Amino acid sequence: MRELVMGIVEFREQHLPELAERFEKLAMGQSPNTLFITCADSRVVPNLLLSTDPGDLFTMRNVGNLIPPATTDGVSTGDLSEASAIEYAVSILEVPNIVVCGHSGCGAMKAVMNPKMVSGAPNLGRWLYHADEAAFRLSRDGPLDKSLPGHDQLSQLNVLSQLDHLRTYPAVRERVSKGKLLLNGWWFDIGSGAMYAWQEQKRRFVLIDRKFAESTANAPD
Ligand SMILES: [Zn+2]
Repeated sequence: MRELVMGIVEFREQHLPELAERFEKLAMGQSPNTLFITCADSRVVPNLLLSTDPGDLFTMRNVGNLIPPATTDGVSTGDLSEASAIEYAVSILEVPNIVVCGHSGCGAMKAVMNPKMVSGAPNLGRWLYHADEAAFRLSRDGPLDKSLPGHDQLSQLNVLSQLDHLRTYPAVRERVSKGKLLLNGWWFDIGSGAMYAWQEQKRRFVLIDRKFAESTANAPD
C-alpha cells in the first residue's frame, strides 16, 4: 500500500501541475472519443499503451474482456454492469468508437480451455460462459494464427465473439448502421508490447504501427 500512496505523492508533485488545467476543464464534464473494453489484467494499461490523456477513454474492464449478449429486447443476458457501461457510452456520451481489446497470456482464456483452474471460483466459472462461443469457433473454424499458443488463439477469436455480442445491443446496432459508431477489435501482445487490429478483409490481426496509422488516416475517427 505504501507504494501506491507514494505513487499519489509523485503524481501530485510531478505530473499534476501540468495537468491541472485539463482536470479543471474535465470537472465540467466528459466527452471521451472511445469506449475501451479490455481485460482486468494488470499488464494491460490502456492510457499508457494508447498515449491517451484523462478524458479520452471511457473504460470498461472485466475478467476476459467479455460482453454478455443482449436478448431481442436489448436486455443483458448476464450482469447489468457491462450493458450499463455500453448504454451510457453509446446513448448518452455518444462515443464514435468502441474498442474491444484482448491480450496474450490471458488467465481467463486459459481457464476457458482448462476449467479445472477455476473449480474453486464458482462465480468466475459462470462468468466465463460468455467466452464459450469463442471456444466453439476455435474448435469449428480453427485459429486465425496457428503460430500462437492455444489460449492466445482463443483470445483473438474471443475479441471477434465479443464484437458480435456488442452488436446485439440495439443502441450499438442503430448507431453503427447510421455510420456514427465504429467497432474495432484489438489484441495486445504483452511480450513484445505490440498492439494488433482486426482487419476483416485480411481475416487477421495486423500490427498497429506507423504504416498502419497512415493507411487508416482517412478512416472515420
Ligand atoms: Zn486477460
